[in-house]
Amino acid sequence: MAVYLCPVCDYRYDERRGAPREGFPAGTAWSAIPEGWCCPDCGVREKPDFDMHEVSRG
Ligand SMILES: [Zn+2]
Repeated sequence: MAVYLCPVCDYRYDERRGAPREGFPAGTAWSAIPEGWCCPDCGVREKPDFDMHEVSRG
């Protein structure tokens, strides 16, 4: 699992939490999100622009 950060507004997508208001239930992998999905907060950055941050396990 990993967290993805919007480079503009610091919105974060956590695969463990998903984004229910966006229609992605908890546990939705980043790879399952459409390439054209925009940041729900700023709306100016799309999925490929996000920065990945690995989350340590345990
Ligand atoms: Zn954003």
